[in-house]
Order: sequence, then C-alpha cells, then structure tokens
Amino acid sequence: MKNISNIHDCYGCGVCATVCPQKIIDISLNADGFYEPHISDEAKCTDCGLCRCVCSYCDEGLSLKNPEIYSYAAWSKVHAVRRKCSSGGVGFEVGRTLINEGYKVCGVRYNAEKNIAEHYIATTVEELIPSIGSKYIQSYTVDGFKAIDCKQKYLVTGTPCQIDSLRRYLQLRHKEENFILMDFFCHGVPSMLMWRMYCSMVEDKIGKISYASWRNKQTGWHDSWAMGIDGEEHGQEVNWHDSYSSLLRERSCYLQSRMSQGDAFYALFLGNCCLGKACYEHCKFKYDHSSADIRIGDLWGEKYKEDEDGVSAAIAFTPKGSDILSLTDCELTELPFKIVAEGQMKEMPKKRKSYKIIMEMLHHGNASIEDLKHKINSIKKIERRMNYLKNPMILFSVLLKKCHRNVFLN
Ligand SMILES: Cc1cc2nc3c(=O)[nH]c(=O)nc-3n(C[C@H](O)[C@H](O)[C@H](O)COP(=O)(O)OP(=O)(O)OC[C@H]3O[C@@H](n4cnc5c(N)ncnc54)[C@H](O)[C@@H]3O)c2cc1C
Ligand code: SF4
Ligand code: SF4
Repeated sequence: MKNISNIHDCYGCGVCATVCPQKIIDISLNADGFYEPHISDEAKCTDCGLCRCVCSYCDEGLSLKNPEIYSYAAWSKVHAVRRKCSSGGVGFEVGRTLINEGYKVCGVRYNAEKNIAEHYIATTVEELIPSIGSKYIQSYTVDGFKAIDCKQKYLVTGTPCQIDSLRRYLQLRHKEENFILMDFFCHGVPSMLMWRMYCSMVEDKIGKISYASWRNKQTGWHDSWAMGIDGEEHGQEVNWHDSYSSLLRERSCYLQSRMSQGDAFYALFLGNCCLGKACYEHCKFKYDHSSADIRIGDLWGEKYKEDEDGVSAAIAFTPKGSDILSLTDCELTELPFKIVAEGQMKEMPKKRKSYKIIMEMLHHGNASIEDLKHKINSIKKIERRMNYLKNPMILFSVLLKKCHRNVFLN
C-alpha cells in the first residue's frame, strides 16, 4: 500500500492531509490524545503515494540537506515584545520583519472555543499577535497548512517534525524558495487528554476558558513557566484586534498557576509523563538536527543566568535564515553553538515507569488532574527509594539494621 493507512502514532503533522489530491485524509486525535491521519474513503485512493512522499515519519533522514550553523544569543530591541514572548521574542520579530517584507505568516494561536492550538495565517502584524508565546500542546495544522498558497511568500513556524514534512511538500511542489521555515528546540508534546483534564479542572472554577497563556515573566524569565488563564465568568475579555501595543502589555490573568508552585500541567508535561509515542521513540530532531532555516529556543545556561527579561537561542541553518535574522529588530550576539544550545536535550526523553498507569488514568477519564499529579509524586517517591536500595552498600546497611532490630526484639 502506497498510502499512509498503516501509519499510527506518527508526528501528526498533517502534511499528508494537505497534499492528498483526493482530499480523503483526515487528521484527528487517537485514543491516546495525539493527532493521527485516517483515510476516510479507501475506495477513492489512487495509490499516487504523495502522502508517504511528504511524510517525515516514514523516512530516517532530514529534508534539509547540508545545513550550515550560524548561532546567536538574541532578543528583541522592543522591551514590551521581549517581556511578552516566551524567551527573547525572536520568533515574533522574524514574523514582523517578514510581514513588512510582503510575506504571510503561518503560525500557531490558541483557539479558546475548542481548547486547541491551531495553525492559522496572519497577514498583518496585528494578526500575528496571537502567535506570540509557546502553546505547549500539539497544534492542529490542517486548516492553516491547506490555506497556504505556494505561489506566495510565507514564513511557517512549527515543531521540527511539522517543519520537516512541510519542507518535503515544498520540495515536491518546487516552491522552497518562496518559504522561510522556523522551528524550535522541542521538548515534546503532551497528550490532549491531559490538557482536556486540566481545562475541565480550570473551567469548574472560572467557567469556559476565554484566554490561555503558558509563559509569563511577572516573576522573571527563569520562573516564567506559568499558566495564565481567564474564563468567561472571571477575567478580562481579550480582543485580539485591539491596538498592537496594548496587547503586548503584560496582562495579568485571573488564574495563575506556576510550575515552581507545583502546577499540575507542568509537572506532567516537563516530567515526561504523557508525551507522544513519537516523541519518546521516533524523534530525529534533537539539538542541531533540523530542517528549518531558523531554529529558536530559550537560551538557558550559564551566560545569561542573571537575565530575567528573556534571551532567545537563534540558529540559522541556511544562509537565507541568517540573512533574515540580521534584518530583524533584535540584538544578536554570535556565539558557539554549544553555548547557544546549552541545556537543550540531545536525546529523546525516556518514558517514565509510571507512563502506563498515567495513560490508563487518562483513558478512563475518571480521575482529576490533581489525582494524576499525586499519583506521579507517590510513584516518584517509590522510584527514588528503589534507586536508593540499588546501591549495594545502602542495601547492606538497611539489611544489617533490620537484623539487629530482629535480634534485639527476640
Ligand atoms: C511544544 C513545545 C516544546 C518546546 N520545547 C522547547 C525546549 O525543549 N527548549 C527550548 O528552548 N524551547 C522550547 N520551545 C520553544 C520555546 O518555548 C519558545 O517558543 C522559543 O523560545 C521562542 O520564543 P520567542 O520568545 O522567540 O517567540 P514566541 O513569540 O514565544 O514564539 C512562539 C512561536 O512558536 C510557535 N508556536 C507556539 N506554540 C506552538 C505549537 N504548539 N506548535 C507549533 N508552533 C508553536 C508560534 O507560532 C510562534 O511562532 C518549545 C515550544 C513548544 C510549543
Ligand atoms: S496515496 Fe495519494 S490518493 Fe491515496 S491517500 Fe495518499 S495522497 Fe491520497
Ligand atoms: S519531540 Fe520530536 S516528535 Fe515530538 S513534537 Fe517535538 S519534534 Fe515532533
């Protein structure tokens, strides 16, 4: 079979659905809560093989050949942009520069009605604003990608796996030169079942979510892992078509929940408890492996450890990417790649021993997000004790103590 009907637990990038001339590929969430393709009507498939041809998951290699590396510490010269964005604001500045050069931008916004992240097209700087900030859930790409007109010029941002497949699509169409592709260092994406559980806990308190943001620098960049959420019953209404500068202001949300204070979403996401199977077993995009023109991320590490406004890692893998970085309104300091990428993952995350239990709890859906967090904490405690006892000297002294106690009691 030349089509993708036997592909499961893939990257869920949606490029197969974009390319299919018969329009018979749908992308929907699988039982674990990750996007996956399905053929709606096999009889209409002409076996053209295009869906497999653009599929990064079906191939071992990367679609960008012979990458170069130009690596920088970078941040927006506009203080409000730097404060509002997840790291130093380079993602937004690249978008703004290219819109001013006549490009359109396909980026990711949060759709509060459906509680999903989705790709969409921005044609003005105001329309670009909802793309600001990382949404740490898998985005639904299909409507955004299908709306791209390959004859025009676009910046497309996304996870490295989405971008690798998209480059294959552009190579197939001979339209690579019209596009700038941007990805980021990618930790992975958590199950949408977990996100839905988190949303239902929040919505019990504040009504239907009307705005969600994952990072906020009110207590500094290093402590910026904070869920900021407004609901219809509490919080301010967000009008994305407000003036550009008023939306960049740091807004405070009704519900704030920080990782440093034990937020359950971050405990599960960054604790690698419920990422996609492809993230654990099939990710070929860590560290310097990318098919993008530009890769962005947080520049954690020694050099900027005192900075609390945020510093981006910005790496260009192509001369085109490097030229665009130099056009942006950003402070750029060229540094060796290993400094720019300090602290980034070099390998895929390991599945935790608790993974199966967590996924079962998510499938049943009868637990709350806080139950899940407590479960993980108690499993972690047991894992720590087991690791401790694996040390022969510690095990010997524990057994010795037990023997003494038994002798004494007898
Ligand atoms: C799932 C995920 C995992 C990440 N893992 C890491 C990591 O391990 N290490 C690291 O340094 N950085 C990681 N990042 C990137 C980091 O959070 C910042 O996005 C990055 O530092 C750029 O910030 P910025 O200030 O330049 O721009 P911002 O304005 O914050 O730019 C955000 C950009 O990301 C795009 N985007 C937002 N959410 C998504 C999404 N769900 N899917 C696809 N594209 C999206 C937007 O379209 C926008 O272009 C991750 C981001 C995501 C979404
Ligand atoms: S082989 Fe061609 S027609 Fe069949 S699903 Fe794939 S892209 Fe569509
Ligand atoms: S970790 Fe790898 S497979 Fe998972 S979303 Fe990121 S790039 Fe894709």
